[in-house]
Amino acid sequence: MATEQFSSSPGLIKLEEQLTCPVCLDYYTNPKTLPCLHSFCQHCLEALPLDKKNESNYISCPTCRYCTGLPEEGAGAFPLAFHLNNLKEIYSLMKKVADPQQIICENCTTANATGYCKDCSKFLCQKCMDIHRIWSPIAHHQLTSLDKVTTSVSSTSQLLAPAKQEATLICSVPGHDDSLRYYCDTCDESICRDCAILTHKDHKYNLIANSFSKHKEVLEESLKPVKGKIEVLKKVMSALAEREVEIRERGEGVLEEIHEMVEEMMNILRRSEKELTEQAKRVTDAKLKVLSEQIKSAEMSLSLLDDVENYVEQSLKTGSPQQVLRSKKQMMERMNEVTAQINVEELCPKEKADFVLSKNIGSLHHIGDIVTPAQCKVRKIDCIASTGKAISFSLSIEVPDSSL
Ligand SMILES: [Zn+2]
Ligand SMILES: [Zn+2]
Ligand SMILES: [Zn+2]
Ligand SMILES: [Zn+2]
Ligand SMILES: [Zn+2]
Ligand SMILES: [Zn+2]
Repeated sequence: MATEQFSSSPGLIKLEEQLTCPVCLDYYTNPKTLPCLHSFCQHCLEALPLDKKNESNYISCPTCRYCTGLPEEGAGAFPLAFHLNNLKEIYSLMKKVADPQQIICENCTTANATGYCKDCSKFLCQKCMDIHRIWSPIAHHQLTSLDKVTTSVSSTSQLLAPAKQEATLICSVPGHDDSLRYYCDTCDESICRDCAILTHKDHKYNLIANSFSKHKEVLEESLKPVKGKIEVLKKVMSALAEREVEIRERGEGVLEEIHEMVEEMMNILRRSEKELTEQAKRVTDAKLKVLSEQIKSAEMSLSLLDDVENYVEQSLKTGSPQQVLRSKKQMMERMNEVTAQINVEELCPKEKADFVLSKNIGSLHHIGDIVTPAQCKVRKIDCIASTGKAISFSLSIEVPDSSL
């Protein structure tokens, strides 16, 4: 990992992140930029697996998977990620500036530096700065005092940015050894003087020094819609994040409601249980009461009959004939009386154990549903493009209740 212990300021950490190759996770070495504008070390690009199609090699960007044809000369032919090299320079300067006591003048190499020249990209001591200011060939150089640079390390990248890029890019056309000093508007590319005279003779071209501000304006103008999209996307992202929170909260709310509903139902059920229990007790008690009266009357009848039976039997066993016959009429009358009086039919159980619970728990198996007021409807699906195996669709949906 490229992060080092002593570099703790946010500006330095941000720069370190920018200077870290996403493939090897180390500082970029010889960074190259792919057409998707992602940059990687040349050696990292060279180590990528190749995809061979129709006799040419392709690599896919490790960050975004964008597929790019590999130049015949290899990954080294991808354009240099010059901005990363510039950042690297700024980074090493910022690290130096973080410990200003250790900076030695890069001109006389004896005294401690007190300032920095953006044009020379050099730290200078007070004496050399003074000379710098009065010696006419370099008197226009932009000097910055070290105090100003060190007060806030996080914002020094702007102060340390090179004042101007030297024209060191040499034309890559074989046989041309001049720097790319011209820009051909017809071909939209940088060219050298030889190119201008030979292959771009009748084209519209101009010295970069004269036309750069115009090109810069065009680039900055084209950057506006990109920035606009970023703004819109940020809003969309925050709306999505907001919606995520809302959905989570609603989900929790619904769980709470389910819990409350079930709790309420349990209370109702407990009340119903109590009522049913009381009802069952009432029915049981009423039936038992009827039965106990029957039992009482049957017992009375039985003891009445027992008494008559005992009396007559004892009389027959123990009495003399005169004695028995003397009370025969009385015994006969009583026996006829009780036999007629007791109706056994009437004493059969009137109450049956014929009460059951009539259940009604069907509705408990489905106590509710989670419903969304109106479902999203897919309005139309347009097939926009079908190139090779990549097919893109545009999906438009109707969401009745949505801020998006
Ligand atoms: Zn790398
Ligand atoms: Zn990419
Ligand atoms: Zn000096
Ligand atoms: Zn200078
Ligand atoms: Zn041209
Ligand atoms: Zn050339």
